[in-house]
Amino acid sequence: VRYYFDWAATAIPDEESTHLEAGKIPFGNPSSLHKEGREARLMLEDARERAAKILNVRKEQLYWTSGASEANSIVLFSFFRRFLKTGGRLLVGKGEHPSVLENCKIIESLGCPVVYAGLNPEGSVSEENIKALLEKHSDINFVSLMAANNETGALTNVASAARLIREASRRKAHIHSDMVQSLGKIPPGEAGSPFDALESVDSASFSGHKIGAARGAGLLYLKRPLEVLVSGGGQEGGVRSGTENLAAICSFAASLERHCSKERAEKNYAAAEERMSFLITALKQNPACKIVPECRSPIDRRFSPYILQCSIKGLPGEAASRMLDDLGFAVSTGSACYSNKRGGKKRYVLAAMGIDEETAFNSIRISQGFSTTMEEIKQLIAALAALRDCIT
Ligand code: PLP
Repeated sequence: VRYYFDWAATAIPDEESTHLEAGKIPFGNPSSLHKEGREARLMLEDARERAAKILNVRKEQLYWTSGASEANSIVLFSFFRRFLKTGGRLLVGKGEHPSVLENCKIIESLGCPVVYAGLNPEGSVSEENIKALLEKHSDINFVSLMAANNETGALTNVASAARLIREASRRKAHIHSDMVQSLGKIPPGEAGSPFDALESVDSASFSGHKIGAARGAGLLYLKRPLEVLVSGGGQEGGVRSGTENLAAICSFAASLERHCSKERAEKNYAAAEERMSFLITALKQNPACKIVPECRSPIDRRFSPYILQCSIKGLPGEAASRMLDDLGFAVSTGSACYSNKRGGKKRYVLAAMGIDEETAFNSIRISQGFSTTMEEIKQLIAALAALRDCIT
């Protein structure tokens, strides 16, 4: 038996949205004018309409991409193009996903100033910090803030931060939010919920495979069209050139409908919170385990109930995840994009929160999803207790 606790890296594919959809996909190129092309175009636009309905935006505001990494890149490099004309400065949280941070480094190396906002001990960028940075740098005209951190689950109230940024920057800043880890997971009324935040941002990114869709489709929400840096055949309104991955896109639309309506997000959230609360309560009783950050309580609305970071005393995260793998459990040591890389970069989120090196080194990420059961959580708790016995 395998127990999957790495949903933040990728969700277990939802059979209904992947295989069933795949059989119905016309092969034509959606940009072709013949019948085969028109059939594909019809399906592509239908998927866009279905996605727009769930996200409560206009379909003209949604652009299909290959994933959230590409959606983030499109927005950042579009900002860079604007910077070349008008100048300005970029403000970005230190805990953002590499698809934001690494591109910021490139933009910075090309001459655009970037301010990296530090994280508070809970793992988000505080509004006081944003305010202070906006006061210090009056030329900030782009801000990127993620809704839910992929390593710790720390939530940012994007809607509230956006209000503050609009006021402080006299409406000139473009506000972007990576909403990958909150789509379908954080319901309305909670910090980081896409339902509340989409209205207040200028752009946002989403990824299909994090909610059970086939890999290879992302969504970029743009309040208004923007000038991009990379061009080509002009698909997706010129925002993302390249033939659309129709199978993955239709699967994304199906997953959105199956898991991400307001009602589903509420139900999913309540169930995830119950399981997470049970897990945290148990781990707080395990003397070898330390919840990261320690201030996180079993029910804690500052965090996504889908993601938990926890450190095991005396056991490096990599060793713990390998031992757990042998026992049948898939967990990770942080962002999947970095877990294969050498070098000290991989725990940068924990470092930015002020977590000491040893705790960070011994940390693993446990993430659950829509179909995780309480029984699986109980098995994981037992496995972590067995790990403790191995090391003590
Ligand atoms: N942003 C966040 C917060 C993520 O967790 C991920 C996935 O690892 C991405 C962006 C990138 O998504 P994709 O795999 O669709 O490029």
